[in-house]
Amino acid sequence: MKLIVDLHLHSKYSRATSKDMDLEGMYHWGKIKGINVIGTADFTHPEWFAELREKLEPAEPGLFKLKDEITEELDKKIPESCRKNLLRFILTVEISNIYSKNDRVRKLHNVVIVPSFEVASYINSELDKIGNLKADGRPILGMDSKELLKITLASDPGSLFIPAHIWTPWFAMFGSKSGFNSIKEAFEELAPEIKAVETGLSSDPFMNWRLSELDGITLVSNSDAHSPRNLGREANVINAKLDYFDIINAIKTGDERFVGTIEFFPQEGKYHYDGHRSCDVSFSPKETLKHHGICPKCGKPLTMGVDYRVNELANRPYDYRPKKHKQVEYIVPLATIISEVVGVKTKTSQKVIQVYDQLISNFGDEFGILRTIKTNKIKDKYPQIALAIEKMRHRDVLIEPGYDGVYGVVKIFKPGELDRGQQLGFGI
Ligand SMILES: [Zn+2]
Ligand SMILES: [Zn+2]
Repeated sequence: MKLIVDLHLHSKYSRATSKDMDLEGMYHWGKIKGINVIGTADFTHPEWFAELREKLEPAEPGLFKLKDEITEELDKKIPESCRKNLLRFILTVEISNIYSKNDRVRKLHNVVIVPSFEVASYINSELDKIGNLKADGRPILGMDSKELLKITLASDPGSLFIPAHIWTPWFAMFGSKSGFNSIKEAFEELAPEIKAVETGLSSDPFMNWRLSELDGITLVSNSDAHSPRNLGREANVINAKLDYFDIINAIKTGDERFVGTIEFFPQEGKYHYDGHRSCDVSFSPKETLKHHGICPKCGKPLTMGVDYRVNELANRPYDYRPKKHKQVEYIVPLATIISEVVGVKTKTSQKVIQVYDQLISNFGDEFGILRTIKTNKIKDKYPQIALAIEKMRHRDVLIEPGYDGVYGVVKIFKPGELDRGQQLGFGI
């Protein structure tokens, strides 16, 4: 069965994460979004780990579900259209590795995925020797990423290690600030054990295909959500059995079971272009080269974005496409689409939430609405939204790239194209 899988997110125990990121919130929003397999996040955190053990129970091999006595109550608040959606949990965590290697400080984030509480316990006991697991749901450990990979490999043949959002300037394997220039440099003789990498919000498969070093490595996408409404903003589509080992093997081998990824437009990510947030300077890699990497306003070096960094490490041209590749689908979150159509800036405004809830109740989960529903079905009542979804599916959007920590902006309609004087059809 085709599963939508989101393996990298955070619980309320991680810094700067919503208090609603508990199992109940993940369950509620996982169903509304239409995610089938979701990471628990943060299994190294002792309190969270205890909560996971208490509230989850084994379902299929390596997969867990929230206990019935909990879901009975939660289901009452989930629109009927989404209540029957399948949702399973997988034990996951992201570790922040900070260490020095080859005379430079390295900061890498890595995701570890395991098949059982026993394996998670083993990893927790190993990591507990190295640093404080209580301080943050995403623990900061003074250990080489390679050592974490070793522990993961020793923990169980079914465990999986994935370098996270590999292109972000800080905290990433290929990051311009504190990463490496190759997988080999980071993991040495264990480099062949890297079976998958996470492309992150600021890059997409098209950009990653430009590095022959990544050939044969599965490019995965996850939401890295810190709040429930961001779950599934990127995800994987995996045609596997409802079984941890089948899902993880699909990722490890990248065979035909791994169908592809659902992507955020990479320009929307916070570090796509180069620039300075405080100087209001945003440059494409070409413009940066013209300015020799220096900000024309303050004279300091610019924060290089992902596009620039990919260009630096790539050994293939900009428009390179492999003959055979995985499916790549782009989405704009439904709340973003609604806010543009309604004409409000905040995605959490009453008006947006009201329309969002109506759409979900009438037509089912968000992924279904964005990806598969026949837009004829929504056209009568929501003509502009139907049009926006059509345009998104055809990648017919306008984008202002993000830079130096500022999110990019995606607009579906050109100025004047959206006639708000026309009937919007919201009944509001
Ligand atoms: Zn991270
Ligand atoms: Zn500046």
